[in-house]
Amino acid sequence: MNYDVIVIGGGSGGYAAADTAQSAGARVAIVDPGPLGGLCILRGCMPTKTILRSSDIMALMQRAGEFGLAASDLKADLSAIIDRKNRLIREFADYRIGQLKNPRFTLIQDKAAFVSPTEIEVSGQRLSAKSFIIATGSVIDQIPIPGLAKSGYLTSDDVLELKDQPESMIVLGAGPVAVELAQFYQRIGTQVTLIQRSPHILSFTDEDLARPVEDRLREEGMTLFTGTRLQEVSADGKSKTVRFQHEGKEKTVSAQSLFDALGRRPNTDGLNLDAAGVKMGEWGIGVDCSMRTSQPHIYAVGDVNGLHEVVHIAIQQGEIAGWNATHPDQTAREVDERLTANVVFTDPQVASVGLTEKDCRKKKIEYLAASYPFDDHGKSLCLGETHGHVKLLCDPTSGEIIGGHITGPEAGELIHQLIAIMYYKGTVRDLLTMPHYHPTLSEILTYPAEELAQKIILK
Ligand SMILES: Cc1cc2nc3c(=O)[nH]c(=O)nc-3n(C[C@H](O)[C@H](O)[C@H](O)COP(=O)(O)OP(=O)(O)OC[C@H]3O[C@@H](n4cnc5c(N)ncnc54)[C@H](O)[C@@H]3O)c2cc1C
Repeated sequence: MNYDVIVIGGGSGGYAAADTAQSAGARVAIVDPGPLGGLCILRGCMPTKTILRSSDIMALMQRAGEFGLAASDLKADLSAIIDRKNRLIREFADYRIGQLKNPRFTLIQDKAAFVSPTEIEVSGQRLSAKSFIIATGSVIDQIPIPGLAKSGYLTSDDVLELKDQPESMIVLGAGPVAVELAQFYQRIGTQVTLIQRSPHILSFTDEDLARPVEDRLREEGMTLFTGTRLQEVSADGKSKTVRFQHEGKEKTVSAQSLFDALGRRPNTDGLNLDAAGVKMGEWGIGVDCSMRTSQPHIYAVGDVNGLHEVVHIAIQQGEIAGWNATHPDQTAREVDERLTANVVFTDPQVASVGLTEKDCRKKKIEYLAASYPFDDHGKSLCLGETHGHVKLLCDPTSGEIIGGHITGPEAGELIHQLIAIMYYKGTVRDLLTMPHYHPTLSEILTYPAEELAQKIILK
């Protein structure tokens, strides 16, 4: 064998896997054709969060009068926003490239394809290993909507490089990427129309958590159509037009540009998985809780298994696969699905950990739920951030928190309080008895906890 472990793909999941395996004493090769850095750094989490900072500041400045301030001549300079993003991303990417090029690994900058369950072909040579970890991420999915390909459209990759601000934009889709970038453009002055198939945006979560975001987007001037059926896209020299069904009627919307944010698919292109005997699952490469594929010595982590397309989970899965690949004689480590978390960086943000009400109903899990609105909470009133609410789900007998959800200010930060409690299998009583500084946003979580604790006592 040339290596103990070959990691295919050097993004966040792949790097975490390689780092863990090498730290356990394994000879590790990483294969990646580049550009090196991974989706999160180059075209995902970090560039989007960098540009959202500009539109969030713009939105606050537009509200200056509410806080007794004056701000005049507000204007976004998209080119300068993208330049700032590029500077930061270069720094983040250089750091990751340095980690990949560290001599503790062999880095091979090319595409890998399996030729057998124990060999890959890369740069014209065959390399063998005891274990493989596939971490090739995801690619933008081509959704077959009549006329879409011919009319031309922007992807999230394009939108992050655009320096000429369009006057108007149609956004297809309402997942996290669609909604974050739609709000960015609306806030910097583009007239955005968002068209979504599901009855509410962010369809992966409970409806009550998505509605406050919809309200905010509409207040900011965005046009939103939910519950639609896309029919056709067309284009002339000046604009793109989308025809769709909405509430039993046919509608058309035109705009200068069209952003297709309908989703991504696992990237298994060219891997020749059949030669390795690796089978696809429901969402991507099929894996069990220890990240093993249908071939016990081949693992798949991150977006390529399609389980949860978020980066901290790609990293966690990479660490688990890296450890399992190097400790074959020990009990395999597994992902703790209880703590699956998501954050959508809209304003208000939407953050969740654990089970939603939708999940509980689907899996027939008994639960108690209680919510509390931000517009009745002192600190949020001080901040002028009153959209949304918090919601807790607990076991009806023990009071253990099984789900925590926040739509509101700093939800992406506040959720970590719930993740920490759930990590230690804490109850609503634990949350209630923990000291909370006043006045803080965090205090709001104690109100639904109190309601649930009383319900459990009264049962
Ligand atoms: C616009 C956008 C915003 C996002 N924002 C967030 C966010 O805020 N928070 C969050 O948690 N997640 C976010 N995500 C998702 C997150 O970026 C991904 O879940 C995560 O980066 C996936 O990591 P990965 O290691 O699975 O794949 P990647 O980082 O994509 O790494 C895959 C690597 O495999 C390499 N590769 C591909 N094919 C081959 C081959 N045949 N041989 C060898 N190597 C190959 C590629 O070059 C690449 O380097 C966002 C995604 C997008 C698109």
